[in-house]
Amino acid sequence: MSSGVVIAGGGLSAQRCAEALRQGGYSDPVKIVSIEEHAPYDRPPLSKALLAGTKELHEIALRPADWHGEQDVELLLGDGAAGLDVDRRKLMLASGSMIDYEHLVIATGSRARQLPGSDQYENVHTLRTLDDAVRLRNVLEPGKRLVVLGAGLIGQEVAATAMGHGAEVTLIEAESLPLARALHPELAQWLVDLQREEGVEVRLGARVTEMIGDGDRLEALLLDDGSRVELDEMLVAIGVIPNSEWLPDEVGLLTLRPDVHGAGDVAGGDHWELAAHQGKAVAHAILGREPAPVPFTGWWSDVHGVRLQGLGQPAANDEIVFEGEPGERDFHAVVSRNGIPVAALAVGRPRELPRLRKLLAEHSSTQPAKEAA
Ligand SMILES: Cc1cc2nc3c(=O)[nH]c(=O)nc-3n(C[C@H](O)[C@H](O)[C@H](O)COP(=O)(O)OP(=O)(O)OC[C@H]3O[C@@H](n4cnc5c(N)ncnc54)[C@H](O)[C@@H]3O)c2cc1C
Repeated sequence: MSSGVVIAGGGLSAQRCAEALRQGGYSDPVKIVSIEEHAPYDRPPLSKALLAGTKELHEIALRPADWHGEQDVELLLGDGAAGLDVDRRKLMLASGSMIDYEHLVIATGSRARQLPGSDQYENVHTLRTLDDAVRLRNVLEPGKRLVVLGAGLIGQEVAATAMGHGAEVTLIEAESLPLARALHPELAQWLVDLQREEGVEVRLGARVTEMIGDGDRLEALLLDDGSRVELDEMLVAIGVIPNSEWLPDEVGLLTLRPDVHGAGDVAGGDHWELAAHQGKAVAHAILGREPAPVPFTGWWSDVHGVRLQGLGQPAANDEIVFEGEPGERDFHAVVSRNGIPVAALAVGRPRELPRLRKLLAEHSSTQPAKEAA
């Protein structure tokens, strides 16, 4: 019998790949190998509903508990992929065991980047896994001074959610405006204003020059303007690093082999829609199907009860046209370059998204570039 498909990584891409294999009639073994102890779960709620306490652990599973057994998808949890022998088609696990594969899917995602020197402190957090989210949730309470370092989407969301817990939040960003790759400067400024209106202290263009600790707790940060920020807890949200060091070579090179495929954040993505699409696309490649057209994927975020939905990559000097009421948190904006729409943001207007997606897709010859291999 064929040794089937082994999926390294147990997140969204892995789950969507396994689902599409079984839906497509694949009858050989399918195994998901994950370093985490949890069956595949959804990450977006980690900084939103789960952190807020309005959803519990069992509510963010990607499938019901018995799905994997019913679909004959074997879950190997708590043991990570640690090495690969591509010639003998063997995946090595951290425990020392080896798994044969016919096809290997690399879907190990990424992990949060650490601030050098900060991991010695027990009150410094990062947020990538369910366990991280539970740990952070347990320390958020009224009056706690939380510093969020990095005003990307995760930093923005945690700042907002922590305000809901009654925490006092300072959001510190090294750039003069956040989210330069996802938001036009006028939209980034709108988001900064929203955070400030909701009571978050936003410090822009500020860099950490020193961490002041006492034993295993971080007590304060010194910033490059000479100021000192006292804190009880800190979240470091300064980007991610792909979980690819266990691979013998770059993912890009490996995926040139017909029996090794990459999907999701480890393959260069950083949004849910793209990871879901790529997991499915890899399954279709294994099933020998024609690749489906790549959708124009985007991202979403929930901040202070407002849904943001973004598409495309704006540049600072692109033209922007607003429609609606930014002050009312109900608008959308289209960003154009040389008269051609290249990016859009809908705020509190999910109904606009299909039209905006269509508009951008019609004018795009390149996006999104990242079809799964
Ligand atoms: C807090 C948070 C909020 C987010 N919110 C949004 C949002 O609102 N909108 C949006 O579009 N996107 C959001 N994202 C991004 C989205 O969740 C990711 O793009 C998506 O989860 C990527 O899926 P993936 O399968 O590639 O990786 P992951 O979901 O990260 O899954 C990879 C899995 O592989 C495991 N793993 C790592 N190394 C190994 C190894 N060596 N062996 C085996 N297993 C391993 C990991 O522990 C993990 O379980 C958010 C992400 C986070 C962390």
